[in-house]
Amino acid sequence: MFIDEYVLGASPEKCKILLVDDQVVNIKILHQLLQDDYDIYMARDGHQAIDMCNKVKPDLVLLDIEMPILNGFDVCAHLKNDPNTQDIAVIFISGHFDEDKEVKGFKLGAVDFIHKPINPVITKARVKNQIKLKSQSDLLRSIALLDGLTGVANRRSFEQVLPVNWLQCSREQQPLTMILLDIDFFKSFNDTYGHTEGDVCLRQVAQKIHDTVNRPYDLVARYGGEEFVCILPNTDLIGGTYVAQQIVDSIVSLKIAHESSQVSSYVTISAGVATIVPTRDVSANILIEAADKQLYLAKNRGRNRVLGAEVMAAELATV
Ligand SMILES: [Mg+2]
Repeated sequence: MFIDEYVLGASPEKCKILLVDDQVVNIKILHQLLQDDYDIYMARDGHQAIDMCNKVKPDLVLLDIEMPILNGFDVCAHLKNDPNTQDIAVIFISGHFDEDKEVKGFKLGAVDFIHKPINPVITKARVKNQIKLKSQSDLLRSIALLDGLTGVANRRSFEQVLPVNWLQCSREQQPLTMILLDIDFFKSFNDTYGHTEGDVCLRQVAQKIHDTVNRPYDLVARYGGEEFVCILPNTDLIGGTYVAQQIVDSIVSLKIAHESSQVSSYVTISAGVATIVPTRDVSANILIEAADKQLYLAKNRGRNRVLGAEVMAAELATV
C-alpha cells in the first residue's frame, strides 16, 4: 500500500540507541552487545545525555540511575518534560533491584528496567522489544499526520508545520513561500470517469507534487478535496514561482486523460504562490489568503498556470 511505502521508505537506517553511564566499563559492555544491530551513541553524564538526545534524537536511551550531579531520574524527568525529547524510550539501568526505585522510574515514564551485572541475552531481548514498540508508535504517529488517500501530509500536519516555519522565518528574517494548487475541472473529471478514477488521479497528482518539491524541510500536504499546499521556507517569490511552474508542467506530463476539461485533453493544475518575510505580529493566515487570491486569479486567467505575489508584512502590521 502507498502509505506503507511512504512511511517505511522514510527511515531505512538503523535505530539509534544512546548509552548513558558514568563508568566507561559499563558503556563498553553495552556497546559490544548492541553495536551490530543499532547505531550507538554514548554519554558520560546527565547533561551530555540531554544534549545528545536533542541533537541525535535516539529511539531509545539506556540510562544509568546512579550518576553524579544529574542522576538518571533527573535526566528522564527532563526528557519527558520536553516535547522535543518526550517520545524517546527510556530503559533504566540500576545497580541492584530496588522496588521503590523501579516504581519511581516507571512513574517518570521509563519503559523498562535492567539490572547490573548485565545479562546479555535478557538485555538484548528487552532492548529489541522496546525498539519494536517505539517503531510501531512512531509509525502510528506519522500515519496520523498523513492523508489516507494520497499518502502526502494531511491538513492537520499542515496546520502544525505552518506556525513553526512562520516563527523560524520571522526569527531569521527569511522569506516564506506558500503554493496553493487546485486540479482544474476535477468535478467534471469525477463526473466523466467516476470517483474511483478520481481517487487514482488524486494519488498520481499528489505523488508528482511530492516528487517535484524535494528539499527535506519543504512540506507538501493535501489541503482539501482536490487542493494541495506546499510550504517552502527560506524561499523567495522567484524560487517559489519556479517550483510552482515545475509542478504545473509535471502534472501535464503525467498525461492523465481528461476529455471534459476545457483547457486541455489532459489533467492540469493551477497554482497560486505567495511569499512573505514574516513578522511575529502578523497572522500566518495572511499568507494563505494571499496564495488563495493568486490561485483564484490563475483560474480566472485560463487555468493550467502559475500566478504569484509578494506580501509585505511590514505594511500589514501598520494597517
Ligand atoms: Mg553509575
